[in-house]
Amino acid sequence: MNLLKMSFKPIADIGEFGLIERISSIVSSSLESSPKLIEGIGDDCAVYELSSGTFQVVTTDLLIEDIHFDLLTTPVQHLGSKALSVSVSDICAMNARPCYALTSIALPPKTPVEFVETLYRGMNETALLYNMALAGGDTSSSKNSISISVMVAGEVEKNHITYRKGAEPGDLVCVTGSLGGSAAGLKVLMREKNLMLEHIRNGEQYDRDLMNNLGEYDKAISQHLLPPARVDIVAFFEKHMIVPTSMIDISDGLASDIAHICKMSGVGAKIDESRIPILPQARLIADEFQDEALNFALSGGEDYQLLFTIKPDKFDTIASHPDISVIGKINPENEGLLLKDIYGMNIDLLSIGGYSHFRE
Ligand code: ADP
Ligand code: MG
Repeated sequence: MNLLKMSFKPIADIGEFGLIERISSIVSSSLESSPKLIEGIGDDCAVYELSSGTFQVVTTDLLIEDIHFDLLTTPVQHLGSKALSVSVSDICAMNARPCYALTSIALPPKTPVEFVETLYRGMNETALLYNMALAGGDTSSSKNSISISVMVAGEVEKNHITYRKGAEPGDLVCVTGSLGGSAAGLKVLMREKNLMLEHIRNGEQYDRDLMNNLGEYDKAISQHLLPPARVDIVAFFEKHMIVPTSMIDISDGLASDIAHICKMSGVGAKIDESRIPILPQARLIADEFQDEALNFALSGGEDYQLLFTIKPDKFDTIASHPDISVIGKINPENEGLLLKDIYGMNIDLLSIGGYSHFRE
């Protein structure tokens, strides 16, 4: 069909998730041609059964200049590292280990060679950290902006795989690390960028070398620029023979990602605000911006921590880990998805959205 003859409904009207649902209904019939495909669209990775009785998990992510990254605020080596980490994070969300990646780039012809070399040095350093290989990709020219696409394949024993579905009433809701840092760090980076541009426009000197002197904002900014995928948590689960009942990585914000777990599992949940681990620097930054750090944690996104559920009898083992917090409980679906705030009031978490592309 010719683009000019199509009825015009902008994708902004249905949003990212509405669009994925439509794509999913078009391609669903193709799933029957691959009986070893265990899981298609809907989880953090597609899942494919290998003959050896292990599952292969595969994910892909796209980073677009000026949508996902801004070269004025992002060191190129960090960008390479983050491009890989965000996909490895989806592998971890399936309780799997990353094995190899294919990386594709589209670049305007004027891009310096050194940019690409630095980008790949960042990726390679991070691949070594995750004990995985960079095994190929594709290269193309582009008109104006830079795109980076990373596909990662991982592996997991069949009986260890963890989906977004699987949470049951009574399970404990847990989260790794601290939240809100990435959104807070981004706020600071954007403020500094605008200050810098304003100084340049006015012909004044800009003497705050923020990008090299992160000072009091260092943890929040590095949570944004260099989010580590939690391969260490997958190893911890294996060591302690824990298989979470469900898991997702927090890419869009706690509110939206717990909603994915609840929807896919057919359950409700109650999250206790006072138990949500918020990065202390995110609180300071929220004060500066007259915002709330809780908002950063609930709907800022890009923290790439793991959100998972476990059976209550695993509490002691989980509590022994210094970087895991128990933040709530899974309930029957009809009890809804609630946030108990610090005053004891229940707030409907579904009314708090997460990051979604195409929305104005
Ligand atoms: P994540 O944040 O974990 O990367 P997304 O929200 O990007 O997950 O995607 C949710 C699900 O939708 C995934 O299973 C993904 O494979 C699928 N998906 C996203 N975009 C597309 C697309 N353009 N075509 C087919 N499937 C897609
Ligand atoms: Mg994910």
